[in-house]
Amino acid sequence: MLLLRLAQRALAAPRPRMVNPALLALLRPASKVLAVLVGRGFRKWWQALPKHKKQILIDHLRRNRVRYAVGSGVAATAGVVYYHNHVTVAPYTGRHRFMLLTTDQLFSMAGQLYQMEMEQYAHLMVPEHHPMLERVQRVGNRLLQANNTLPELYTKVWTVSVIDDPTMNCFVLPSGDIVMFTGMMDALENDDQVAAVLAHEMSHAILDHAAEHLNRGYLLDLVVLVPVALIWAVLPSDLLAVASHWLFNLVVKLFLTLPYSRLLETEADYLGLRLAAKACYDVREFSALWGKMDVLEKIMDKNGQGAEVPAWLSTHPTNEDRQRELEGQMAEALDLRTSCKCPPLTPRDPREPIRRLQRGVAQEDPQVTPVAIPLQKPLPPPAARIGTVTAS
Ligand SMILES: [Zn+2]
Repeated sequence: MLLLRLAQRALAAPRPRMVNPALLALLRPASKVLAVLVGRGFRKWWQALPKHKKQILIDHLRRNRVRYAVGSGVAATAGVVYYHNHVTVAPYTGRHRFMLLTTDQLFSMAGQLYQMEMEQYAHLMVPEHHPMLERVQRVGNRLLQANNTLPELYTKVWTVSVIDDPTMNCFVLPSGDIVMFTGMMDALENDDQVAAVLAHEMSHAILDHAAEHLNRGYLLDLVVLVPVALIWAVLPSDLLAVASHWLFNLVVKLFLTLPYSRLLETEADYLGLRLAAKACYDVREFSALWGKMDVLEKIMDKNGQGAEVPAWLSTHPTNEDRQRELEGQMAEALDLRTSCKCPPLTPRDPREPIRRLQRGVAQEDPQVTPVAIPLQKPLPPPAARIGTVTAS
């Protein structure tokens, strides 16, 4: 039987070590520095080369251009074949992805990461039998039990811990260690919304997103070595090379790294919605939760208490995009819930008050916009469900 274990126990649990994460962490920046040094070294060498020697080299390249072209073609083909040999299909979503580092290898890193993360929070961890911890544990166990046909659930030892910190955050490590913050719990109005957050985090672990992210990071680092070396080799001065390198990094981030990160978040929402539907939670609360976050963010933005980050600059889709995406999948999730013979949902749709708030914010309704925390305002019936849930 799958059980969520308390984080305190997990801290003491030994984990296998198969790779040295410190070595991996060092290799990535070291390869970039090497590309810069090689490119810059080539430029300096070329600039210092006498004119007649440059001509000899250019003539040599022209004479052997076919040979060099074939060699480059063979290397590129080998790279493509290598890439395709390491493409796997993500479970449940069918997305193709590059996976070089195995989950087992990552597992040892996850254990160490967890211990490193926990060291800074250890003094803030709520004790066993704390109401919030018990609530997260109860919801987590219900999600696990309802989805116990998924083989990926059995490869992990799931744990939960709650950190007494106002940060609105929750994260999971690939090993299945879920860390929830009291700040996040305060924002969740009911068990259905707790399930929304937990199911999303569990999905990240089930889909091996951390391993995939790391694998793609290594691949990207490898692919950009050539353009980085070229930037430093071809541009005539260090100043130009620094500016172009910065611009190149920005382009990579905006067009490759961030969209990919948002894709993984959307995928975790997709699977999370289905995990919660099978556990008979009110999946409409998923949409309501992100709608609420959207309202809060927009009002804080209008009141100058924070700037809304555009989607293209963010690692996560906007709250509005997440809400819209989940709404698009809602009919399927509700059907899944019905097919699992879940009890009928309450007639009151939790998305309705949120939609009213969103319309109010969009129309700059003076009854809505001036408040900092709109969900604490009395709302049309039933107002009792709108408010902050505490552990008491
Ligand atoms: Zn996420």
